Amino acid sequence: MAAARISVLREGYVADLEGGGLRASPSSVLIEDGGLKVLADPGTDGEGLLSALSREGLGPRDVDMIFITHPHLDHILNIRLFADAEIIDPNCIYRGDEEIPYGELIPGTEVEVLPTPGHTSDHGSLLVPVGTETWLVAGDLFWWRDGAGPRTDIQSLLALEDELAWDPPALRSSRLAALGRADVVIPGHGKVFRPSGRPRPGLR
Ligand SMILES: [Zn+2]
Ligand SMILES: [Zn+2]
Repeated sequence: MAAARISVLREGYVADLEGGGLRASPSSVLIEDGGLKVLADPGTDGEGLLSALSREGLGPRDVDMIFITHPHLDHILNIRLFADAEIIDPNCIYRGDEEIPYGELIPGTEVEVLPTPGHTSDHGSLLVPVGTETWLVAGDLFWWRDGAGPRTDIQSLLALEDELAWDPPALRSSRLAALGRADVVIPGHGKVFRPSGRPRPGLR
């Protein structure tokens, strides 16, 4: 099995601001595979992201590609820090004014893009082979406000409330498919977790 390297550069968070509004940035994840460095969801916290990258011995120019799980601005804002990187979403690579569709894998890597509609219609997550395990870069397939982390059994994970969900039944199906594959989950906002077990066969 291919062995990518994965590191959570910044753990995602969401907290209410006094007087209204939110303080939020998603989990920003660095994946190194096939000689490429892919940064998933660069988020909003520019200073935190750049210092985490520099702890890896990297600067913005070392990032080859930015993967966006879905087009919520808090997941995207920091693409402005990476002028040289290619931007990809679950469907296309964006090069200047060209949008180029690609297959199931991020080109040049063994990282699989899993369509996970529900939170938004065009949401995608990443399945990353790390040693003998599969890590899921979930994006907002799973997220929660600070302090509200779910239990990690399958039923609790399927039932996790998403107040922003575009299509709750689609979200549940996407979660089920992803939990059937993932050993470790990096949520959009919240701590990395290991689901306890797999969905039982026939569960919908
Ligand atoms: Zn979102
Ligand atoms: Zn989010």
